[in-house]
Amino acid sequence: MISLESYRDIVGDDVISYLHQLADLLRGRRVVHVNSTKVGGGVAEILQRLVPLMQQLGIDADWKVIKGNDDFFKFTKSMHNALQGNRLHIPKPLFENYEETNRENAELLKDELKEADIVFIHDPQPASLIDFFPKRKGKWIWRCHIDISKPQRSIWKYLRQYVVKYDASIFSTVSFAQPIPHPLYIIPPSIDPLSDKNRELDDEYVLRTYKEFGINVDSPIILQISRFDRFKDPIGVIYAYKLLKKPVPALQLVLAGGMADDDPEGQIVYNEVRSVAEEDKDIHILLLPPEANLTVNALQRGADIILQKSIKEGFGLTVTEAMWKAKPVIGGNVGGIKIQITDHHTGFLVDTPEGAALRIRYLLYHKFKKEEMGRKAKEFVRRNFLITRHLRDYLTLMISLLYFAKDRIEL
Ligand code: UDP
Repeated sequence: MISLESYRDIVGDDVISYLHQLADLLRGRRVVHVNSTKVGGGVAEILQRLVPLMQQLGIDADWKVIKGNDDFFKFTKSMHNALQGNRLHIPKPLFENYEETNRENAELLKDELKEADIVFIHDPQPASLIDFFPKRKGKWIWRCHIDISKPQRSIWKYLRQYVVKYDASIFSTVSFAQPIPHPLYIIPPSIDPLSDKNRELDDEYVLRTYKEFGINVDSPIILQISRFDRFKDPIGVIYAYKLLKKPVPALQLVLAGGMADDDPEGQIVYNEVRSVAEEDKDIHILLLPPEANLTVNALQRGADIILQKSIKEGFGLTVTEAMWKAKPVIGGNVGGIKIQITDHHTGFLVDTPEGAALRIRYLLYHKFKKEEMGRKAKEFVRRNFLITRHLRDYLTLMISLLYFAKDRIEL
């Protein structure tokens, strides 16, 4: 386990001392996080790192994962898509199955959740758990990781009936916040600079990783790492690449991704991507297992240009991960990506494949500028998006709910 002390060199003494001071007020408190997948996606990524650090600070922290059948995850994925703005009709039995699944999970988790001082419920999948704990002891917080700025109203209305029962909600950016009659907190996610996904790697490891996938490191490489999900726009990335293939014939595209346990659409999108890529030998579609953290790290370090061309994005940890490796990212001009990339300064925000192609070309031909932007990007992450800042925000929030409770809007 990585000790909190190891972060001193990266974030400084003051940050570590402050975390200890805050945690003293929470020593021995029972804190439970609940989400719907142990692996895959940003939420699991964060909880894997955050929960052990809370424990090191003397907090009795735990992480539970709810279980569900195929229909449950089909429903929650549809709900996720509708909350992010797609118009969908979801059949009534799927709503009933969602409620029933959370009832079963409530039964399984009843001892942990009833007595907890603080419960963090992540995203819509477990949101209706709260209905089954009318006599809860602690404060319950709904932590929303997705972009619900323009939801399909009927689905938001359905979810909102549960959300209003919580003591507080957390959103990643101000633009996602919805009118809810309880305190709203704005806490962006974070990355762990010492995890296998982000720690320093030697050049030889990076080169070997690319070689093992049969990718030529002497020719330019564009990379996007994402679950196979339409909101990540892998097809748009392929179009951007194709626009550049004529002027830059040596260009290679790497689309690397895996599947999350709670995402039933991954395989379909993966097949679509393969078919749009056709037989182009310079497009490398890599299906990565969930534990491929060092591989992701090496791919990010070795790429010339990193894209995250999402068309909806709650935050996009992959953007911060790449920026931490001193890469300017070309990101979709949406959601949480907008608070990470300062356009033209630490990367570029784009709306179309054409825009992405233009910026890729610019960075390929302006190496000095690319390095300068990369350095600024890394510094921006150090100040804003490391796990120590995230931990501080959560500790402050817990203290405010347990001790002062009222009238706090933002950390
Ligand atoms: N990730 C990974 N392997 C993959 C695809 C993604 O480890 O094949 C990681 C990625 O590095 C990041 C997280 O999963 O840490 C994805 O988080 P993000 O916020 O970018 O997107 P989400 O999947 O939560 O929508």
